[in-house]
Amino acid sequence: MLQLRNNFTPNAVPGCGPLIPPLSESSRPLRQQIFERVRAAGTIARVQVAKELGVSPASVTTGVSELIESGLLEEVAAPPRDGEAGRGRPAVALGVRANAYRVAGIKLSDREHTAVIVDFAGNLIANESMTRNPGPMELPQLLVVLAQLLDMVCEKAGITRSDVSALGLGLPGFIDSHTGRVLWSSVLAGRGLVLADVASEYLGLSVRVDNDANLVTLAELWFGAGRGLSDFAVVTIEHGVGMGVVINHRIYRGAQGLGMELGHTKVQLDGALCRCGQRGCLEAYVADYALAREATTALNWVGKDGQSINVLLESLYDHAKAGNTAARSIFRRAGRYLAVGLSNVVNLFDPSLIILSGERMRYDYLYAADTLAEMDNLSIVTGRPRPPIEIHAWGDMLWAQGAAALALSAVTESLLSGARDGAAREVAAQ
Ligand SMILES: [Zn+2]
Repeated sequence: MLQLRNNFTPNAVPGCGPLIPPLSESSRPLRQQIFERVRAAGTIARVQVAKELGVSPASVTTGVSELIESGLLEEVAAPPRDGEAGRGRPAVALGVRANAYRVAGIKLSDREHTAVIVDFAGNLIANESMTRNPGPMELPQLLVVLAQLLDMVCEKAGITRSDVSALGLGLPGFIDSHTGRVLWSSVLAGRGLVLADVASEYLGLSVRVDNDANLVTLAELWFGAGRGLSDFAVVTIEHGVGMGVVINHRIYRGAQGLGMELGHTKVQLDGALCRCGQRGCLEAYVADYALAREATTALNWVGKDGQSINVLLESLYDHAKAGNTAARSIFRRAGRYLAVGLSNVVNLFDPSLIILSGERMRYDYLYAADTLAEMDNLSIVTGRPRPPIEIHAWGDMLWAQGAAALALSAVTESLLSGARDGAAREVAAQ
């Protein structure tokens, strides 16, 4: 059982199990499809892989031999089925060779930076976090923070930086994930920096950068509720509002790797000012700084020096729970804007599931029954039921695990691509 998967509660993993529909992207090499299927299943027999991919057992055997030879997969004892215990040779299944590589995932955010080390099968080895004051960092400061946090989590894992094959890095903001360029982020001063290259050179290892909402989506796709689904959306509410969309089992990133900025879709003409500099963005009504802005006015809040936005929001939530009308109306208004955003997602993508993720989902007023009813009213009338909505109130550590999943996919893609042998040498040399 993968450690990362264990972080998802059973009720958050509907349909999770061996019945994963085959990937339909026949353009990808078969051995890559085999590897991904084994990784998703944890432990699986060759014959089952063939069945799920819709290919002959002989071609799976050939592909598996290559993957075992490359050190990516290994044979493991299959769990005995009922009535088979003790009869004949134990059945053999396939598993990812967990010790083959270790990767790191780091999530940078406005309140806290988090890091994880996972093995090649996605098992969590160590995690670490670092609190911080909000605001953009200059590049030199950001690089120092990355190095410090990476070394801290490596030490906890009992390894050194040179044992790490790749680092996945998640930031809020507009990230061109193809090139690793940060066009804008609330945690980095300046615009247009190719952070993947700069960080890679500074840290001495391969670095991939992506929007943090995409990384949560990747974690759901690889290890969570999305494992059995071909099309779903993850909407994140934290300091900002983000979204990741999976279409046909793959994250959709757009032509320039910039897609799915739900937080900056407009819900009000000439509306409230957003952090991005434009007006009327969804985020400017739903994100925590928007709630804090309203709370400061409505509750006559006088913030003390250094008092965090979290303290303010907790107080607002306590007031709402205690029946304070102003506090309740702030959450209800934010919930109505969220309903507008979610109905747009339904109307555009027709997802089979919407996952609401992020620490702010603890504030259940945001997705109260009237919010969901409003979403229904704003969705086009098709006669079919709206997609189910699941609430996953994961903390930053899950986002870091999503970043690690990005690093894992970077390593496996380079190992499984045409330049497999060269890439393997490159990774092994790191
Ligand atoms: Zn905006």
